Amino acid sequence: MYNFPITYEPPVYRPPSEGRSLLFQVTIGCSNNLCTYCDMYRSKTYRVRPIEDIKKDILLCANSGVHGDKIFLCDGDALGAPMAILEETLLTIQQAYPDCRRVGIYATAENILNKTEDELKRLNQLGLEIAYLGLESGDDKILHMIVKGNTSSEMREASLKIKECGFKLSIIAMLGVGGQKYTEEHIEGTAKILSDTCPEFFSFLTTFSVPGTPYHTMVERGLIKPLTSKMLFREMHDILAKSHFDLNPVIFRANHVSNQHPLGGTLPRDKEVILQTLKQWMANTPEGMFPPKPHQM
Ligand code: SF4
Repeated sequence: MYNFPITYEPPVYRPPSEGRSLLFQVTIGCSNNLCTYCDMYRSKTYRVRPIEDIKKDILLCANSGVHGDKIFLCDGDALGAPMAILEETLLTIQQAYPDCRRVGIYATAENILNKTEDELKRLNQLGLEIAYLGLESGDDKILHMIVKGNTSSEMREASLKIKECGFKLSIIAMLGVGGQKYTEEHIEGTAKILSDTCPEFFSFLTTFSVPGTPYHTMVERGLIKPLTSKMLFREMHDILAKSHFDLNPVIFRANHVSNQHPLGGTLPRDKEVILQTLKQWMANTPEGMFPPKPHQM
């Protein structure tokens, strides 16, 4: 039996589009770790791993013949690691995996704003090509309610900055995150940020309240009313309908396990087809029905 040469500190997460990527943990946990709906790293105390350990992992994989066509740096916001660690990690990847096509990373707006443009450009030159930013919502009330740690204007500034520094930007928004009360604000704010920033990739997740999180407690107490299936389709429809993608083509995906049906395309080219599909889903969905909770997220 084949033994994978390195061990990870679990749990380990990566974006769906990095499903085939080789993962290396640069940081453990998340430096924010406060978002009310998120339980991903609650069991972990945030820390930056020693560079010797990161390099050891990379070299062990390379020397064992582990394929590294695409590489993703974990955990929750590895872009928050100090420059010296990130530079050394990327240089080691370049040497160990000269054929690696792309290195990706999770980033928060704070991570991006805390680095200078020169620093981000340097990381990009060293092969860090794509950053995944959890916008969740473009509305400040919602961002405050979910303790995201950044305002919508910081999200906008960070998105434009990292694109300007040569990165591809992948933005993730959460359907239903503001509950029924803030659905209009969620639509308006999110469409505005998407139009302003025009990320190269954009995806939706659907919000489910995870037991043990503050978000779940708020749902249980009736402070947040989850959206029905029909309302979720409408929210997705209206965000896309109100967004203008004028700067570059946007690869759009709503194929996460949390979403009710997979949907995708290139925007603005496929916008009308996608909106028609959503209208059909709305028409075929009874009122008052809620989406089934996914088995694994
Ligand atoms: S920044 Fe991301 S990983 Fe960290 S707590 Fe928020 S959602 Fe979870």
